[in-house]
Amino acid sequence: MQAWSESARSRGLRLGIVPTMGKLHEGHLSLVRVAASSCDRVLVSIFVNPTQFGPGEDYEKYPRCLEADLNALAGEGVSVCFAPSVAEMYPHGQADNLTVEWGKKALCGAGRPGHFDGVTSVVSRLYNAMQPHVAVYGQKDAQQALIIRRMTESMLFPVKTVLGAIVRERDGLAMSSRNIYLDPAERERALTLSRALTRVGESLRAGERDPGRLQSIGNGALSGIDGVEPEYFVVVDPATLAPHENKVDGLLLIACAAKLGKTRLIDNHVYRIQGDDVRESMLF
Ligand code: AMP
Repeated sequence: MQAWSESARSRGLRLGIVPTMGKLHEGHLSLVRVAASSCDRVLVSIFVNPTQFGPGEDYEKYPRCLEADLNALAGEGVSVCFAPSVAEMYPHGQADNLTVEWGKKALCGAGRPGHFDGVTSVVSRLYNAMQPHVAVYGQKDAQQALIIRRMTESMLFPVKTVLGAIVRERDGLAMSSRNIYLDPAERERALTLSRALTRVGESLRAGERDPGRLQSIGNGALSGIDGVEPEYFVVVDPATLAPHENKVDGLLLIACAAKLGKTRLIDNHVYRIQGDDVRESMLF
């Protein structure tokens, strides 16, 4: 992998990577297109990273389907699919790691201690293996994207962090490799997340600016539904991952997580607020 990237870089080619854990869907493919828009070559990694799964999470049963994934990539003009083994990514075992303190205990980090240490540890290795100029991530994992951008800045990685928008199913459910775990009843109840986010967006557009009230509207919409176990619903400033002090202003991240049976799902909306103007926005 390093030899391929070195050779491409020496020919002046700009390399864009899309890190994934496989079981590719339209959300992943949209990131490939984002990478292609500013790069000469697009590389996709497929690696189910053990260090970002906690005990009792779904590392063993996470879907693995390399053949189907390669077929999905075939139509997208991808130059390389990098699918390393665990031993290649962790040659000295899983103890030596890169940690970013910023943001790692908020939101998903509260319920998944160690998760973001695993993410930054694998992404730093992917950067050294793949040597990209650009790395593209989905806004679906907003906290992950913010932490990776922070890592890139803190560690002076010469990589530009780029975001792609959330791709949704027709009914609003955010696409996820984990959606295949849902039985039909859970699939229906999974809409609770996107509906709760939409409900808060409506309140914003109606003029509500109180961070506490917005958060309770979201919490209310996410809770009290049989079979949906809310983990969090937050309305935060993406610069701090903490609520705005008095009223929401500027960039706003509204994010939630909930369990449907054994399946944990996350979703978010991002808005830019300027006075009365409320617009959906990218985080960066
Ligand atoms: P994963 O394979 O789930 O680890 O995701 C790999 C990349 O795809 C991450 O940057 C995710 O944020 C992104 N991604 C996952 N689902 C979506 C989606 N529905 N829309 C856009 N990007 C996504």
